[in-house]
Amino acid sequence: TIRERFILNGDNPSVSLEFFPPKTEAGKQNLLARMGRMCTALNPLFITITWGAGGTTSEKTLELASIAQNAFNVPVCLHLTCTNTAKSVIDHALQTAQKVGIRNILALRGDAPISDIYEKQQQDQEGGGGDEEIFNFNYAVDLVRYIKQVYGEYFCIGVAAYPEGHCDSEAEINSKSFLRDLPFLKQKIEAGADFVITQMFYDVDKFLSFEKVFREQISSAIPVIPGLMPINNFMIFNRASKLSHASIPQAILDKFPIDLRSDDDVVKSIGVDILVDMVSRIYTGTNGRVKCFHMYTLNLEKSIAQIVSRSPLLSQILEDEHNNTVTEMVIADD
Ligand code: FAD
Repeated sequence: TIRERFILNGDNPSVSLEFFPPKTEAGKQNLLARMGRMCTALNPLFITITWGAGGTTSEKTLELASIAQNAFNVPVCLHLTCTNTAKSVIDHALQTAQKVGIRNILALRGDAPISDIYEKQQQDQEGGGGDEEIFNFNYAVDLVRYIKQVYGEYFCIGVAAYPEGHCDSEAEINSKSFLRDLPFLKQKIEAGADFVITQMFYDVDKFLSFEKVFREQISSAIPVIPGLMPINNFMIFNRASKLSHASIPQAILDKFPIDLRSDDDVVKSIGVDILVDMVSRIYTGTNGRVKCFHMYTLNLEKSIAQIVSRSPLLSQILEDEHNNTVTEMVIADD
């Protein structure tokens, strides 16, 4: 499990890698080859596979997660969301995970599309949603409790956290806004969560304040894994940050010369420097408490390889024998 991997890994730096299931068979094969290269070169502590809210990608997610679990000798963590989802879908996912040997679940609430929320409200008012039993899950903590209740200690459970506050809390983006979510994060830990992965962010100071308060008020032992998204394209960087309510510090924006923002090669290279700097500031700012870094890979390998090889901390992961694979990753055309 991820819990065990953290203990075995001791003080060594590491990464974890997030992937999403591609739509086509060719995309899947391509991704599996990438995942193989990345697992060989970077020896991630674990890899995670995302889940479409409401179960929209459930079969593709389960298929990719099952193959990965048995292919790469790296623990797989299955994302699972719980709102607005049929009981059968959640049970099927957990049973399949257990059957194929997956031991880790990232238990999430998910975001229901507005129309679905409306439909569900109507169903509730009309006294039920037909034949399908919908779980009465409103928050991720309900899923954590359910998994514990049905599977005991079999699954190691991760939960999400928001260094800049979750958007539902309607807090203005400011350094204190995560405080509103803190009691609910605490509930998830008390319900049995074993580790925390954060929403992507670029403001390291905000993450550091969050981590400090988490240590003081919730747990000194539970791993907090910062979520980092490489910058491959300026428009996507801007859009993803807005969608995730991640603020971009002016000092980071200023690193991208306005006339070069449409040049992806330049943007990627500046982005790698930014991420390398973030990794080292997080490590130093937490006195080495944070040493595993979660990479939202977007299924791309090149910038991840460059971040790891240029980071004085993370390059310790690379053994000489793996350097060829890293070179292959850098050459791979994203
Ligand atoms: P929760 O912990 O339930 O919190 C949601 C909000 O409700 C917060 O504002 C919280 O403070 C509040 N809250 C919690 N409990 C209570 C309570 N008892 N009373 C009142 N308010 C409460 N989405 C996907 O669809 N698929 C994915 O694969 C996926 N992967 C993700 C991975 C990571 C690392 C992260 C950070 C997010 C991911 N998401 C994913 C997005 C996630 O589903 C959304 O951000 C969702 O809006 C919140 O999920 P949560 O698990 O944090 O919810």
